[in-house]
Amino acid sequence: MKDKTQKSFRGIARTLLLVFCYAFGSHTFALALEHEQTVETYKVTDVPNPRNESSSNWVSNPNQILDESYVWEINNMLSQLEDSLSIEVAIVALSSIGEDIPAEFAHKLFEHWGIGKKADDNGLLILLVLDQRKVTFATGYGLEGVLPDALCFRIQQNEMVPWFRKNDFDRGMTEGVRAVTLVLYGSDYEPVSQSTSDNYWKSASNTLWNFLANQSPMLWIFLILVNVLTYRMKVNKARPKDGSALAAIKVLTLYSPLGCLVLFFPVWPALIAASLWYKFYQKQRVILQSKTCDSCKAVALQLLSNELATPLLSASEQMEHKLGSAIHRIYQCTSCGWILRYKSVVGSEYKMCNQCHTIASKRISPWKTVKEATYSDAGLEVADYLCLMCGDKKQATQKIPRKTPPNSDSPSNSHSSSSSSSSSGSSSSSGSFGGGRSGGGGASSSF
Ligand SMILES: [Zn+2]
Ligand SMILES: [Zn+2]
Repeated sequence: MKDKTQKSFRGIARTLLLVFCYAFGSHTFALALEHEQTVETYKVTDVPNPRNESSSNWVSNPNQILDESYVWEINNMLSQLEDSLSIEVAIVALSSIGEDIPAEFAHKLFEHWGIGKKADDNGLLILLVLDQRKVTFATGYGLEGVLPDALCFRIQQNEMVPWFRKNDFDRGMTEGVRAVTLVLYGSDYEPVSQSTSDNYWKSASNTLWNFLANQSPMLWIFLILVNVLTYRMKVNKARPKDGSALAAIKVLTLYSPLGCLVLFFPVWPALIAASLWYKFYQKQRVILQSKTCDSCKAVALQLLSNELATPLLSASEQMEHKLGSAIHRIYQCTSCGWILRYKSVVGSEYKMCNQCHTIASKRISPWKTVKEATYSDAGLEVADYLCLMCGDKKQATQKIPRKTPPNSDSPSNSHSSSSSSSSSGSSSSSGSFGGGRSGGGGASSSF
């Protein structure tokens, strides 16, 4: 208790001193006081080299500006990049470098660490300086062709600065690194030291092959199974339920080979296969069946025009047709005169009337809540409906879905305990940068 009051007293005293300094014009003194209080200033030689910690670490984050989970993601991307293209990218996030200019600081640090492979000079340093609100890229000689200064600047402006402005350094840095890796993967960059052949497709297919080979066999079995099931489902839906013309018409009007896009599972092979099967094998058969008269078996069913069909529809069907709540089509056999009726209900605002069974019951009052939805129970609301066909009035009820509790799963801190404990046996696994030199290229953006 005593400690707390003492602390707050000290805080007040310090604030008063700051105000005093500003007020009396000793601006520099005030700045220095402020500085010493909040910010640690780094020199080039002070910045911890991430390669000393582990060979899969590319991020120097001594002030914990970036969240651990994002650092992990960035490290993954950069390790993969080094694996496939041997390019070394270092990320440095510092709260302050004092009065130093970030671009100069970045190039000095680049040289100091020797980022990039020695033979290729294929390094990149991304420096974030918080108090100056600046992000800087420094590129090695070998990367200036694929990462020209203008492109660096564009990546900063488009991918990083918008997040940095919102003080979301995690997202800004991650998006920036992602953009850089995409540019590098998409370019025809190839390190001299790794391969002398300039066959881009070979290296691209190697990368793809490595990626495919790295997936677990269970995932492949699962994906194939999902694809086979999807294909079977699609094919079954394209088969008319029986030999009648009506069943074939239903398939023709309702079936779509690609159907809904399934985003969660990659079932494109199944959808494409089903689509090809339908187009080249099934469709003509279904069309033929849809034209075959169930009565005389002649291929002579014809869709009647609106004028011819309307008198054959009941008053109720005509009403549905007019309201657009159902589609009615009438086919007639030109050989024996047999008539086929096809009805398809269309999603609309109309409900089916209980009295006359016409889909023409329309809501005429707003929904009124009878019972509020809670976190544990669904609610209930009512509204009045009027049938436009027979004039019958009724009250309809519908459920209000249960409330979902506010989401509480933010990025977990479960990793945080491992922040500095990765040193067990790290002496053997630690790496270093490859000795590349900075080319003086790069770009800086303020945010
Ligand atoms: Zn017929
Ligand atoms: Zn009715």
